[in-house]
Amino acid sequence: MKKEIILITGAKGQIGTVLTQALREKHGIENVVATDIVPPSHSDEGPYELLDALDGDHFKQLILRYGVTQIYHLAAVLSAKGEQMPLQAWDINMKSLLVVLELSRKYEIKVFFPSSIAVFGDTTPNRLTPQTVPMEPSTIYGISKVAGEGWCKYYHDKYGLDVRSVRYPGIIGYQSQPGGGTTDYAVEIFYAALKGEAYSCFLGPQTKLPMMYMEDAIRATIDIMEAPIETINIRTSYNIAAMSFTPEEIAKEIKKHLPDFKVSYAPDYRQKIAATWIESIDDSHSRADWNWSPKYNLPTMTQDMLEQLQLKLLETA
Ligand code: NAD
Repeated sequence: MKKEIILITGAKGQIGTVLTQALREKHGIENVVATDIVPPSHSDEGPYELLDALDGDHFKQLILRYGVTQIYHLAAVLSAKGEQMPLQAWDINMKSLLVVLELSRKYEIKVFFPSSIAVFGDTTPNRLTPQTVPMEPSTIYGISKVAGEGWCKYYHDKYGLDVRSVRYPGIIGYQSQPGGGTTDYAVEIFYAALKGEAYSCFLGPQTKLPMMYMEDAIRATIDIMEAPIETINIRTSYNIAAMSFTPEEIAKEIKKHLPDFKVSYAPDYRQKIAATWIESIDDSHSRADWNWSPKYNLPTMTQDMLEQLQLKLLETA
């Protein structure tokens, strides 16, 4: 196997924290360079660089210094946070991607770009949403991801850049905190339940959204990057799916383990964003092209999340 040197942007985020560790286990600690605009924690092992992904000169220096062969470009401002600062969100999400694509073209680097279910909007069919549909998102985050998918395909078609992408649903994990998305409630709810606190949910009880457990999301990310090049037929971004549920349904599932848990509902501005998203996804292209298949559903994810988070809370108590 060719030795890969991997650089991750946004490595301190919800997904980056876990992906960095998974890639280090696979490729060796020294071969995975974590970067972010926030400093490393004391417990972080392995190469770590402070990098603003908009800073093309610094980015280029790091690529040359480490001999980078793959970039996982996770740095972004997410849906809910992006609505508080739309112009900055556009700048960070778009300009950083263009820096990554241009440097990767020049230095023949393989790229992973995470897209999102936020690309969908009011005009998208919202059940079992097919791969190719109208995409008229309502958030600046969604608009930036649609444009980002288009840029990825453009760099692939025009320059032959090997850039691969999936549209993540809402990601749930115990390892890290979410960073300002519309599905963050599905992580917060577990912390409240285990601390014996009542939870006030910022989405309404019937808001059904596609979700995925972190372990599945990390596996999808690494699997699509490792798939033989001839199997990758979609160069915008692949639909991937695992489960769909409402706040009421996840609360019910948690109550099977913690019967006294109480949830109330106080929908805020994020409800309006969620209302434009879809309920469930047709991911048949990912299944056919690179053998995607999720392992976790709502009951198995809930059980594992409660067990792992309980251990984590005990360790940090
Ligand atoms: P996050 O908000 O938790 O982390 C993003 C990281 O990017 C942060 O650590 C932040 O410090 C860093 N960052 C921000 N601006 C930067 C800059 N200019 N240069 C370098 N780093 C910068 O996000 P996440 O949840 O880990 O998401 C990772 C990727 O996956 C994002 O592109 C996001 O759009 C996508 N995604 C996430 C979800 C989800 O549910 N978490 C769903 C769909 C798509």
